[in-house]
Amino acid sequence: MPHPATDSRRIAIVGGGPAGLMAAEVLALAGVQVDLYDAMPSVGRKFLLAGKGGMNITHSENIDGFLSRYGARRNEIAALLKAFTPDDLRAWIHGLGIDTFVGSSGRVFPADMKAAPLLRAWLHRLREAGVRFHMRHRWQGWDADGRLRFATPEGEVAVPSSALILALGGGSWARLGSDGAWMPLLQERGVALAPLRPSNCGFDVDWSEHFRSRAAGEPLKTVAASVTLSDGSILRRQGECVITDAGIEGGLIYALSAPLRDAITPSAPATLHLDLLPDWTAARLLSELQHPRGARSMSSHLQSRLRLKGVKAALLRECTGTEDFHDMHKLAQAIKHLPVSLRAARPIDEAISSAGGVLFEAMQNDLMLRRLPGVFCAGEMLDWEAPTGGYLLTACFASGRTAAQGALRWLGERPAGKENTP
Ligand SMILES: Cc1cc2nc3c(=O)[nH]c(=O)nc-3n(C[C@H](O)[C@H](O)[C@H](O)COP(=O)(O)OP(=O)(O)OC[C@H]3O[C@@H](n4cnc5c(N)ncnc54)[C@H](O)[C@@H]3O)c2cc1C
Repeated sequence: MPHPATDSRRIAIVGGGPAGLMAAEVLALAGVQVDLYDAMPSVGRKFLLAGKGGMNITHSENIDGFLSRYGARRNEIAALLKAFTPDDLRAWIHGLGIDTFVGSSGRVFPADMKAAPLLRAWLHRLREAGVRFHMRHRWQGWDADGRLRFATPEGEVAVPSSALILALGGGSWARLGSDGAWMPLLQERGVALAPLRPSNCGFDVDWSEHFRSRAAGEPLKTVAASVTLSDGSILRRQGECVITDAGIEGGLIYALSAPLRDAITPSAPATLHLDLLPDWTAARLLSELQHPRGARSMSSHLQSRLRLKGVKAALLRECTGTEDFHDMHKLAQAIKHLPVSLRAARPIDEAISSAGGVLFEAMQNDLMLRRLPGVFCAGEMLDWEAPTGGYLLTACFASGRTAAQGALRWLGERPAGKENTP
């Protein structure tokens, strides 16, 4: 049962997204006074937005598959998820009175697919547990006495704390509160950071005006996309994406966005390959294409033999040389492996999430900053990334718990009433 704080020490949490709120819960239930500060007028704004298109909170795949989604940070995230697994997360949601279900893709959703009822129930529980919320408090670093500086509508305030958890989010969708403005505050204290970059993002493509005007806004349904990774292996996914004015975006593209983004240099684009007919074998495709087409145009031949039409046919034209349309071998190859040149990732503000942030090497296993004892970090502000599918939120929740448990241990090792002055 939640109970009000019984410990005289105060922990400050800055950032009221899923990571900060989860840290607040662990600490408040342990009896510590928690003061949670956020720059925005209310907490959980990105969490609520994530719930708009269907709140995908975690994934039901086996833990090995799950962990593989974190790529180079697999081991670091595995350590966090050990103490709070995707199943633990589901049980925790059930504890808030919200049922969950597994969709056909294996993704896990709250029963009503919404974030708002979950957040409402959660905030109620946190208030009952004694968490104090301070909205419109923008953290601006430390003053000369080690107190936390906040800009508020009433002017600047300085707040002492026994320990600090930063859960400031990444750099996407800045209008929801997480704008990456915390980076210089930690950098000037010697904390090692990787630059924030767009993750789960769309890309710019130099479409012809003709194609752009016809295809922008059109979905490309059931295609496969692949990218060659730096070790020569191929990452291939099947799904849907959308042609946009600027280029291409959507779930399928987000899933490949990390290696695509990393492959782009100022002088060279990245190449995405699309399979426009992933359910057809190359041999069957070729045999259909080689049927005599008589007086029919190539577009009606493609439509009648392959049911390739609309935006798919237009994209094939856009990305294939005219001469390839006269060579059925080359045309079959283009349909199965159509190269699309991606010039740049879309700006970070448009991305679902961001990569980069506080390096794991700058923290202990409990997420305490080595350079700033008593200061812990959690959530998307850490240097990891993952595709959509619930992997982002799961790691944010788990890291919030780890940071809170670290802060509890830190407090336990220090005399009561001692302020932290990093
Ligand atoms: C459109 C969209 C859809 C998404 N869908 C999903 C999904 O279905 N599944 C999934 O797993 N993930 C999804 N995500 C990602 C997920 O929402 C984020 O990864 C998650 O919210 C990050 O949690 P966090 O607590 O680390 O940071 P945030 O949720 O970004 O919270 C950070 C908080 O810190 C505050 N803050 C920042 N700087 C300061 C400061 N200087 N002073 C005070 N406060 C500050 C901000 O106001 C904010 O409230 C989606 C994201 C977007 C944008």
